[in-house]
Amino acid sequence: MSNYKFYDQVNKAFDKAAKYTRFDQGLLAQIKACNAVLRIAFPLEKDDGSIEVIHGWRVQHSHHKLPTKGGIRYSLTVNEDETMALAALMTYKCAVVDVPFGGAKGGIRINKSDYSDAELERITRRFTFELYKKSFIGPGIDVPAPDYGTSAREMGWILDTYRQFSSELNAEGCVTGKPLNQGGIRGRTEATGRGVFFGIEEAVSNKDDMKILGLEEGIEGKTFVVQGLGNVGYHAAKYFIDAGAIMVGVAEIDGSIYNKKGIDLAKLLEYKMESKGIIGFPGTKTLKNNSAVLEAECDILVPAALENQLTTKNATKIKAKIIAEAANGPTSTEAHDIIKNRGALIIPDNYLNAGGVTVSYFEWLKNIQHVRFGRMGKRFEEESYKKILRVIETISDRKFTEKEIGILAKGAGEAELVDSGLKDTMINSYNQINELRKKHDVDLRTAAFISAINKLGVIYEQMGIFP
Ligand code: GLU
Repeated sequence: MSNYKFYDQVNKAFDKAAKYTRFDQGLLAQIKACNAVLRIAFPLEKDDGSIEVIHGWRVQHSHHKLPTKGGIRYSLTVNEDETMALAALMTYKCAVVDVPFGGAKGGIRINKSDYSDAELERITRRFTFELYKKSFIGPGIDVPAPDYGTSAREMGWILDTYRQFSSELNAEGCVTGKPLNQGGIRGRTEATGRGVFFGIEEAVSNKDDMKILGLEEGIEGKTFVVQGLGNVGYHAAKYFIDAGAIMVGVAEIDGSIYNKKGIDLAKLLEYKMESKGIIGFPGTKTLKNNSAVLEAECDILVPAALENQLTTKNATKIKAKIIAEAANGPTSTEAHDIIKNRGALIIPDNYLNAGGVTVSYFEWLKNIQHVRFGRMGKRFEEESYKKILRVIETISDRKFTEKEIGILAKGAGEAELVDSGLKDTMINSYNQINELRKKHDVDLRTAAFISAINKLGVIYEQMGIFP
């Protein structure tokens, strides 16, 4: 792990794609560079009164659009290189799905299960204060969100702390992924997993691509393995299962399990809560370690944990026909080439897991507009649909029941609008990158980078150099 350079890996993939663009080396170097890197250390007073030094980072990769945007993770893997790589990925991801933000990322190097809730709250609030003091947070500056090891709870603490110092009107937009009653938006928790589902649904609807893989069109009946049952992995798995896919394998921190007939997600989750792990879940075979299931027989492999999981160590053994990169950077550049040359389709992270930031964008819009989506139009829309149904009734024999009217004349509320906006984003962006893939005869990751570089390059060209 120690000589693994994540930021280099991202830049390698960037360089591969840059060859297909018209921009010169200087401009490409500017796009790649991390614009601002903040490294901080602060003391935590633990519950027993002892002091521990906590290390954290926030990287703003690109200021071509503001605010910058990206999650904050709590993990022992956090370091400067990782945070820079993840911030860069955020820039490219936002560009691919046309979310008008620069990329950023933050991280605190802790294992969150080593701390009490009160300690985690103190860490989060102090980190927010440090960000505020250094002008690294604000609705028009830099807007954090949840990531590995953080959730709506931490985002609520961030907002509350920010508000202690700032009385600005749009303060609620300083962070996304918040609890609903603190300015959050319906559908944000599920968003990354939901986006993964929409992305794969679009990919498997392409008859020609499926034929090359020897697969039928559609999600139904496809088998999948998921690595990590956190927020992203769990929701992606749930939507796949709801659409008729079969979950045959799961990897978690304590190990991996397999059952080719399928694993019940709801029961597994209950078991995981009780047993603090997934090993021994009835009806499943325990595999030798937590990465063994990545090599299992399945149609779709969904790495939804951390980076650098598919490497030269296991790439030749991966049997899945589709790799759905729900995590950030799960596949090393070398492993990518091995898996691709074997004929598998890799749906890259810089597109596939963009659902989270897409719905964060909707949340931020809601916060700066100070109005819930659908509030103005929902009832008007319903009344209009009802009028149309009444006209249909007068010109035909058809009479609608109250239940039918309820379904047919339903106006779109926040949840429906968020879901529709997310689906539209994932479908449009897939088709954009798939076109580039065909045009340049490259893989989807390279195509996504080409798409991002083209969009960023034009903006940088128009901006010129200041002063
Ligand atoms: N942490 C998520 C990601 O890696 C979401 C970022 C956001 O919503 O700003 O994409």
